[in-house]
Amino acid sequence: MSQIDHDKYRKLLKIQQNNALLKTSQAVLGWDQEVMMPKGGIEWRARQLGFLAGLAHERSTTPEIGKLLQECEQDQTLTSAPRSVHGTNLRMWRREYDKATKLPVSLVKEIAETRSLAQSAWSEAKDKSDFSIFLPFLEKNLELSKREAECYGAPEGGELWDALADNYEPGANAKEISEIFGPLRDRLAALIQEVQEKGSAPDTSFLDVAVPISRQDKFGRLVLESMGYDFNHGRLDESSHPFTQSFSPADVRITTRYQETNFLDALGSTMHEGGHALYEQGLPMETAGTPASEAISLGIHESQSRLWENMVGRSRSFWQWSTPLVHDILGSGLTPYDSEAFYRGSNRVQASLIRVEADETTYNLHIMIRFELELRLFRGTLEAKDLPCAWNKLYQSLLGVKVPNDAKGCLQDIHWALGIFGYFPTYTLGNLYAAQFFAKAEEDLGCMDDAFAKGQFKTLLAWLREKIHRQGSRFFPGELCEQVTGRKLSSDAFFSYLEKKVRETHGI
Ligand code: ZN
Repeated sequence: MSQIDHDKYRKLLKIQQNNALLKTSQAVLGWDQEVMMPKGGIEWRARQLGFLAGLAHERSTTPEIGKLLQECEQDQTLTSAPRSVHGTNLRMWRREYDKATKLPVSLVKEIAETRSLAQSAWSEAKDKSDFSIFLPFLEKNLELSKREAECYGAPEGGELWDALADNYEPGANAKEISEIFGPLRDRLAALIQEVQEKGSAPDTSFLDVAVPISRQDKFGRLVLESMGYDFNHGRLDESSHPFTQSFSPADVRITTRYQETNFLDALGSTMHEGGHALYEQGLPMETAGTPASEAISLGIHESQSRLWENMVGRSRSFWQWSTPLVHDILGSGLTPYDSEAFYRGSNRVQASLIRVEADETTYNLHIMIRFELELRLFRGTLEAKDLPCAWNKLYQSLLGVKVPNDAKGCLQDIHWALGIFGYFPTYTLGNLYAAQFFAKAEEDLGCMDDAFAKGQFKTLLAWLREKIHRQGSRFFPGELCEQVTGRKLSSDAFFSYLEKKVRETHGI
């Protein structure tokens, strides 16, 4: 009998595949809510989603899964090849099952209730720029998240925060992240200071040119097709917050948003989500509905979006290819600008207050500030009430900007209101993975500038498919990085890529 014909495994596989059908059906309703649903449908939709969420939780925590997992794990023929499809599935199913069953139902309920209250308090606090409204909820969210982390348990040699980070980035821990972020933080701060003192700011006046949305949409679709996004297995729509939603590798949808001016905003969002979608479309269809065909982490996911958005979309060669198309499709308002102008303007460095509006260089400092503060809150070396003061100090010292009020300071992000801790670093980890992968791709394939300048991105995509997308969840992020690049993750590739570009575009 072959390993995969194993009875117990087949039974478990069937249960898990059905659960995946249920969860991806939920996702269809979620996508519809963001993109298509009329406003008045919200109450019924909330009931539909609530019902399905309860069903999904019940089905994924049934003791039958635990029993079958245990039986499969005792079978040497199933566990002897940990990177095989069944080895990967058993390992990841075990993780999911343990996480889902370790939290007592009473805590899950308390968390859900508190988070919904915290979210509305945060929203009011942000509107009024009054931190005191949010403070009691932040304290409660922290307490609940610590209890949640205690249920999972800190990894050996690690700390509580790690248990939460592991939900988003399997195997991640504060110690290793700090070791990677530390040197990068100093180098970035120095580079930004140099830009402020000696750099000449690129002209970004093309961002004021109005471009009809239908033209931006046409251009975005052309770029997506050139990247290799498959419209037979996807679609592009508009929503207020751009996102990617996959139901299976055969149906991966993205959204973007448009404004009349600043065509770069929509282009950046479209390429970013396009990068996420290429990862999802590249996962193996033959194992769809199991971890062998699932993205491994948020950091690796973000590496794919950032690679296309920044390493491709803000490169000189990309603009050499796309500038004639920009002139042709986006209209005569942009014809005075050549490819160099777009290249320089799209890479402008400017320290600012708001993370989601930050450029590629300053962005990571916004993340590091949040990471540091979160750790201090978790370790008990910072009290929640002192958060605004600590926040403002770090913005002043690292980015050189003065925070005028808490709405533009520590109340700007929704994450802590939703009780999401351990998440922020995945954004920067994504940037670092992206650069390390890209450097390795160039090592393997040679310089891709000439191909990019002709709008040819297929070789790069084929490389990403083989090395990253097809791997699904076979490797944890750190292992995947070593497997693909031969090295542990560091910030070296990212910093040298960025420094070269910043110096070129700012004349320093
Ligand atoms: Zn993203």
